[in-house]
Amino acid sequence: TNVSSPFSPNGTKKSLSTFSPNSFVNVEKGDPVAFRSYWEKVSDKSSVEIKGEEFMSYFGDGNNLCWYMLPQMREAILRIHNVVGNVVTKDKFIVLGNGSTQLFNALLYALSPSDPSDQPINVVAAAPYYSEYQDVIDHMQSRLFQWGGDAALYDENKPYIEVVTSPNNPDGTLRTPVVNSEVEGKLIYDLAYYWPQYTPITHQINQDVTLFTLSKCTGHGGSRIGWAFVKDIEVAKKMMRFMHLSSIGVSKESQIRAAKIIEVICDGYENFKSVGSDHLFFNYTKKLMIERWEKFKGAIEKSKVFTLPKYPTSYCHFNKEFSDQYPAFAWLKCVEGIENGESYLEKLKIRTRGGERFGDDAKYTRLSMIGTDDEFAEMCTRLSNAKRE
Ligand code: PMP
Repeated sequence: TNVSSPFSPNGTKKSLSTFSPNSFVNVEKGDPVAFRSYWEKVSDKSSVEIKGEEFMSYFGDGNNLCWYMLPQMREAILRIHNVVGNVVTKDKFIVLGNGSTQLFNALLYALSPSDPSDQPINVVAAAPYYSEYQDVIDHMQSRLFQWGGDAALYDENKPYIEVVTSPNNPDGTLRTPVVNSEVEGKLIYDLAYYWPQYTPITHQINQDVTLFTLSKCTGHGGSRIGWAFVKDIEVAKKMMRFMHLSSIGVSKESQIRAAKIIEVICDGYENFKSVGSDHLFFNYTKKLMIERWEKFKGAIEKSKVFTLPKYPTSYCHFNKEFSDQYPAFAWLKCVEGIENGESYLEKLKIRTRGGERFGDDAKYTRLSMIGTDDEFAEMCTRLSNAKRE
């Protein structure tokens, strides 16, 4: 297979496919490596060096509630949100985590009732929901919280936590809370994908608790950096207690790397005129997502086996234009007569995550749109060759 990317330095990049017909193409996970070609272009600028004697302390900033966070990490987080305008950062505490996964765990602890005689609080999310929420909660078998299932079906008049993922994983929809209860619930906004390469930035979100991750913003999942904006100091303090007990903070090496990566993105936007828009991270990665989605839609149409969700067009305040959505995952639904999307694609040697894992029907299955160029190209080839039996 020839893999072409108009964004690679020499125009068209040719590489031999590493896939033999018998090997699986794995698009089951959401490993965010698609933006690698951007970071290759700015490789020198985005490198960091750390000397043996540096960053030896557990502490990063004794004056901050989040005492292990380095000042340059905090500044980078505030700076990128200032550039993109996707969240209100004023009057919020920042809690840094080992990915937003650890902060989700910290929030389960911090938002649960502290009286041990209380019943575990129900945690719900509207189906289809990100499968890890349920996996984490079931695995913990906590006395503080339990999985309460689909938020749309929750009808108990008891305290609850609702996770609102927007844009949503797996289906890319923009979401608001859905629980209908006489009791006021606590909300966790997981905004992992609320970045301009995936979705129009329609407004600055201002909520009690919002979660972000470097993984889906810049593509550096391996650095394990996530952050939460928290309005209530008591919630932030409890999260800090959890962070202390589970990992005594977050690696300084990761913070230095993450701060540098974010700085490179922000410097680009501040020096916009000298670098040109193709060199800007969100412009480049949005183009990449558009290109992948066009290719993918072509393959799906050819196969006539699946349909895709329809997304509204909205005004993006960041790009200053109307824009479609280009989600990090494709959420495929089988046409009439095919009952199981995941096993259908297994036969085509494409590994995906089936709808039931997300609290939905097996007719649906989720495919990553943010894997390597090779994986993506091979997935499209195999999909377009799929013919209804
Ligand atoms: N939330 C959502 C909705 C995600 O899709 C992911 C990554 N798959 C995460 C949280 C976790 O991200 P990380 O732990 O890498 O920050």
